[in-house]
Amino acid sequence: METIILKRFDSPVEANIVRGLLESNDIFCFLQDEHSIGMNPLYSNALGGIKLMVRTEDAARAHALLLTNSAEHKLQCPQCGFHDVHFVTEKQNKLNWFAIFISLLSRSPMYVKKKYECNTCKHVFEFE
Ligand SMILES: [Zn+2]
Repeated sequence: METIILKRFDSPVEANIVRGLLESNDIFCFLQDEHSIGMNPLYSNALGGIKLMVRTEDAARAHALLLTNSAEHKLQCPQCGFHDVHFVTEKQNKLNWFAIFISLLSRSPMYVKKKYECNTCKHVFEFE
């Protein structure tokens, strides 16, 4: 059985979440160096992180599964349809500070909107 590294993690928690995702989809996998790094996180750089190992024949299916389940993948640019987006903070104008102030007073996050910028077409859009 030949295995390859599918992904590397700094945190055992994140690594186990992804391992659970793969196992729930009947993909055999295991974590390498999980306990060494869990005991001493400073070993992470020396050991190359916690390695999620999968069988070579499952690698393509596992990779596709990770892509469709990542948070970034769910975000899509409404203008060009690409998923390559990143979170941006709004420009710090007076209206924005006023909105944050009102939001704090009312203890409601309704005035703080999340904005994302497309890396492909630079279109800025709101999400949720
Ligand atoms: Zn775009």
